Amino acid sequence: MRLDAKIPAGPLPQKWDRHRFELKLVNPANRRKYDIIVVGTGLAGASASASLAELGYNVKTYCIHDSPRRAHSIAAQGGINAAKNYPNDGDSIWRLFYDTVKGGDFRAREANVYRLAQVSNWIIDQCVAQGVPFAREYGGLLANRSFGGAQLSRTFYARGQTGQQLLLGAYSALMRQVANGKVSLFPRREMLDLVVVNGQARGIVARNLVSGEVERHAAHAVVLCTGGYGNVYYLSTNAKACNVTATFRAYKRGASFGNPCFTQIHPTCIPVHGTYQSKLTLMSESLRNDGRVWVPRTGGDKRAPSQIPEAERDYFLERKYPSFGNLVPRDVASRNAKEQCDQGKGVGETGLAVCLDFADAIRRDGRPVIEKKYGNLFQMYEKITGEDPYGTPMMIYPAVHYTMGGLWVDYNLMSTVDGLFVLGEANFSDHGANRLGASALMQGLADGYFVIPYTIGGYLAGSRFAEVADGHPAFTDSVKLVQERVAKFLAVNGRRTVDDFHRQLGLVMWDHCGMARTNDGLEKARSQIQALRAEFWQDVRVPGAAGDFNQSLEKAGRVADFLEFAELMLLDARARQESCGGHFNEAFQTEENEARRDDANFCHVAAWEFTGEGQDPVLHKEPLAFENVHLTQRSYK
Ligand SMILES: Cc1cc2nc3c(=O)[nH]c(=O)nc-3n(C[C@H](O)[C@H](O)[C@H](O)COP(=O)(O)OP(=O)(O)OC[C@H]3O[C@@H](n4cnc5c(N)ncnc54)[C@H](O)[C@@H]3O)c2cc1C
Repeated sequence: MRLDAKIPAGPLPQKWDRHRFELKLVNPANRRKYDIIVVGTGLAGASASASLAELGYNVKTYCIHDSPRRAHSIAAQGGINAAKNYPNDGDSIWRLFYDTVKGGDFRAREANVYRLAQVSNWIIDQCVAQGVPFAREYGGLLANRSFGGAQLSRTFYARGQTGQQLLLGAYSALMRQVANGKVSLFPRREMLDLVVVNGQARGIVARNLVSGEVERHAAHAVVLCTGGYGNVYYLSTNAKACNVTATFRAYKRGASFGNPCFTQIHPTCIPVHGTYQSKLTLMSESLRNDGRVWVPRTGGDKRAPSQIPEAERDYFLERKYPSFGNLVPRDVASRNAKEQCDQGKGVGETGLAVCLDFADAIRRDGRPVIEKKYGNLFQMYEKITGEDPYGTPMMIYPAVHYTMGGLWVDYNLMSTVDGLFVLGEANFSDHGANRLGASALMQGLADGYFVIPYTIGGYLAGSRFAEVADGHPAFTDSVKLVQERVAKFLAVNGRRTVDDFHRQLGLVMWDHCGMARTNDGLEKARSQIQALRAEFWQDVRVPGAAGDFNQSLEKAGRVADFLEFAELMLLDARARQESCGGHFNEAFQTEENEARRDDANFCHVAAWEFTGEGQDPVLHKEPLAFENVHLTQRSYK
């Protein structure tokens, strides 16, 4: 397998323009001859479907949920970045590009990140035109706030509900095309296989989650926008339906998986409070614009936070990183919180929490100002914990939040399977080893509104297509495979629930492939997961029937994929003998406990190729060339 990133030649600021000029076009009258499948209706999928249909292609759009609006993107809270420089505080496309490459610990492709920064401004214009109600300053200009890894304010927001408002915008654009007859919508469908004919992605096989029917859908190209796989850890801030199935099935059909071990642990989440908890809740990074993070100066201090006087508190982020303070990038903030708790300075019953305190901000700005900015987040916190964060500090702890890994794609967002494009969190993305806050929404919408409409045209115009309908033998084979697997789940008839296996898998991954990793731990975890997988196939209990609405069956399929995919994450983490961003191998750290990269040996994207059931995958490397930024040890001091 050859990895060709297809990065256009020329100076960085001109690459995208030049590439768009060089890409072949499909003339408007011919676009209606092409069918395109889009799987997923989050920000990436909804924006891609709407844009492609607007261009005149016939689009078929699929999602697991009953409505496209239930995609996990709806949960995004804090905001979306763009280099508009409205606050006049020194932003530019170059600075957004630089901050993103540095924030990702120099493990992203320069050309992609620069394009992302370029199109960021168009996204805001597009969303404003759709009527997205971004917060505004008193003069009418859109308001900005700060997110981690930046020393200025470039994050556009709609209170703490930015994802919801952006998704309503994209959803409206999508539904307009449904009404126009250009998008056929298939809700409650789960893609369970990719169909490849003559090396080209030509369709999907999906299960109708209501009737249980296994359906065939053919097209000229397939666009996966199926989100991230943070739920491999069981407990995460992701929606419960987030999964790896679509991308993992594509991997098994020839799409390489890029950097699967790159996981983001978000520093500010409501801590775990019980063994049977199924979900963790994010407290947006935007809160660190005003909230101050601290722990008691002395370990073992069990007084309530309000009883600990100022002089006996350690504002450890402000102390260690005076330039960025509480807004250091997520990987840095998370590791520091863990370090404090490991030293016995954690607060709360479990000692696995640090304080996020708004007392100073409320004293300074008054409660109404804080309420206006973060009201819904404070309300959510109070509902879950029963504590009023206006009066007492929030208690927070890091949790799994986002996956930088995903299917490998070239500059055109095409995977290693011709005609299979991957957008949003599902691709290995532009964030390197650590995503900066508010950059996922930017990337998903950049991919859907402004990249795929051009690059897919180039592919369609430049390819030849055999006649492939859904009666093709490749579809028949794939349907058989899916049906056999469904039957296999139901036949086990064991004693343990799917959730029980999932919880155990999550614990192994959190302990050994979470915030801190060791070679021994990664190897131990691999054998534990192999054993767990064997047990799953002998002892899982999936009640109900195949030809019916059966959520246990749905979950079983997703967890079975997680059980295989987890091993790929462990292999990837073990192969990367350095620390970078969210991948922290304890053997590779600086004297100040920061991640220590090894640029001589690991300045690459790791792309894993599936080689057959029961066989180890093969690692391919895409070297990363940095021609415009200098590789340095990140410093946020
Ligand atoms: C709590 C929370 C808050 C966040 N806040 C922010 C923020 O403020 N700013 C920011 O930039 N980022 C934020 N993020 C990250 C951001 O929300 C996500 O990365 C982004 O929304 C992902 O969008 P997506 O379109 O790629 O995927 P998703 O929104 O996850 O959509 C995936 C879609 O794929 C469908 N799907 C999945 N598998 C299948 C299958 N097999 N068959 C059919 N359909 C399938 C689903 O039904 C869904 O429609 C936040 C994340 C969380 C968890």
